[in-house]
Amino acid sequence: MPLILDGTIVRMSHMRRLKGAVAKLSVKPRLTIVQVGDDARSTLYIQQKQKFGLEAGIAVDVEKFPISISETDLKAQIEALNRDNSIHGIIVQLPIPDTFNKDAVINTISPRKDVDGLTGISREFLGLGGDVHSFIPATAMAIMSILSFYNISVSGKRVTVMGRSRLVGLPTAELLKREGAIVSVCHSKTENPKGITKTAEILIVAIGKPYLVDDSYVTKGVVVIDVGINPVMGTGFEEEVFPKKVVGDVFWRKVAPLSLAITPVPGGVGPMTVMSLLENVYIATCAIVGEKPVL
Ligand code: NAD
Repeated sequence: MPLILDGTIVRMSHMRRLKGAVAKLSVKPRLTIVQVGDDARSTLYIQQKQKFGLEAGIAVDVEKFPISISETDLKAQIEALNRDNSIHGIIVQLPIPDTFNKDAVINTISPRKDVDGLTGISREFLGLGGDVHSFIPATAMAIMSILSFYNISVSGKRVTVMGRSRLVGLPTAELLKREGAIVSVCHSKTENPKGITKTAEILIVAIGKPYLVDDSYVTKGVVVIDVGINPVMGTGFEEEVFPKKVVGDVFWRKVAPLSLAITPVPGGVGPMTVMSLLENVYIATCAIVGEKPVL
């Protein structure tokens, strides 16, 4: 049996530390989430952030706008949040409707409050090795935290990242390189991805394709981090899925027996992602109020 990399256990450990650190601050950290429209999945994710924010002692507010708001007005609202000294972190809950220029909206967030690490400035700093005022996207941090909690060193290891999104794949590859891993990235245009994934000692999968990665993608003894969150139902998969459930990008039943360690879905990267966002809010607060982070 592989070692199960349980994100809820990692979250509990990080929550304990974060609560202690937040309690020592002279102010209550505050995150504002900008939501455009009424997407049900986004609302669910926001509720998760509020629930764990409450537990950590971090205020999580939502500024909700109708999809009819103009891009100019939306940016003006974000600029007002930038100026509000009681707010330490700002995120735009994604996705936002295609009618908006997503990058332009996100780039309105002050880099000091960009706790999702998605503004152009944060991304630039990530590539350069980081900076006090640049934040790392939460999912990438969550992956690194899980590996670190289970004492899985990436230094000198062959690591393959499947997926190159700005939210997950790219920042994860950057962090891994920083930690001394030998990183390969494959994506939708990669010819013969199995030729790369089979060389991996650690395989990180973030592609949004339910069950795609099966035993033909891995070599025995691999460590697998499955980032995928795919709600599925029906018969169009390698096994019948009924009723509806959430599955990863990795076909657990076929890959787990070959793995040394593997994250479950749900219960792997997901639980740690919210935690990493809250850690970023804490760090943003420390920088803004001039107090030393103790995480
Ligand atoms: P995305 O659609 O932005 O990017 C997907 C990436 O996968 C692209 O770079 C694409 O080139 C690559 N890809 C697609 N098919 C591929 C294939 N067959 N082989 C190799 N690469 C392929 O998605 P995203 O935002 O990066 O999210 C990926 C998955 O992770 C989704 O299931 C999403 O729901 C999940 N996710 C989970 C968390 C979490 O906290 N666990 C957070 C964010 C995203």
